[in-house]
Amino acid sequence: MNNKTFFLVALLLLSLVLPAPAQSACFICGSQKSLRRIQVEKQNKLICHDCRNQEQRCDLCRRACTPEYMRDGRRICPTCKNTRILTQEQLDGLYDNVKSFLSRDPAGVVVNFTLPVQLADKDEIQTKMIEGGRAMAVLGFYSPYNPEKIYILSGQTEIDSGATMVHEYTHAWQSRNCPSQDRALKEGFASYMEYRYLVSRGQKNKAMSLTRKNDPDYGESLAKLLEMEKKVGVAGVVKYATTQKALP
Ligand SMILES: [Zn+2]
Ligand SMILES: [Zn+2]
Ligand SMILES: [Zn+2]
Repeated sequence: MNNKTFFLVALLLLSLVLPAPAQSACFICGSQKSLRRIQVEKQNKLICHDCRNQEQRCDLCRRACTPEYMRDGRRICPTCKNTRILTQEQLDGLYDNVKSFLSRDPAGVVVNFTLPVQLADKDEIQTKMIEGGRAMAVLGFYSPYNPEKIYILSGQTEIDSGATMVHEYTHAWQSRNCPSQDRALKEGFASYMEYRYLVSRGQKNKAMSLTRKNDPDYGESLAKLLEMEKKVGVAGVVKYATTQKALP
């Protein structure tokens, strides 16, 4: 081995044993271009030039503002910081309201079981979705096992978090009471309960907008169940959604 080869081999070995450089990438996009340090929820994070110079806008309400950053890189305005569901404690309080809605509501999917509901960052909820074999942007997610749990995306309004929780809780109820239904009936009835929750909170327009969702398993199915309700009443819809495997 001549000197030059020795030098190259030594360099190669050295590069294998030396630790990788400390994390040095933008916490939002992973770029390494002109990084600066900023404070994010009391932690020191690196942010790149492009992310720093993004249009100053809140990612939650889309209003122009001087935003702060959330842990997962979303930008949040002062108003949203005061009004959105951002802590597990807030979510737990809301969960109690949701359970009492479900036990009051005549359609009330019977609340004779409990399961944990956890607030999740955007990246966390996306990881869970991919583990569950799905990959889409969601506001909440029901994981049937390992462990059974509902995940709710942080930063939603109180009404939206509650509606998402009702929807996902209905899936947990379905997994116990009528597990072998097709997707259209499952999502249709979960949307039906979500609809009822929104109406109970005085959000009739928001409730109606659920019938216009692009995915027919949600929008169209809900519209069918609301039509059905006119003929057989709420109890009839619940009976149908409990005993049948598919929509008519
Ligand atoms: Zn960046
Ligand atoms: Zn905002
Ligand atoms: Zn669903």
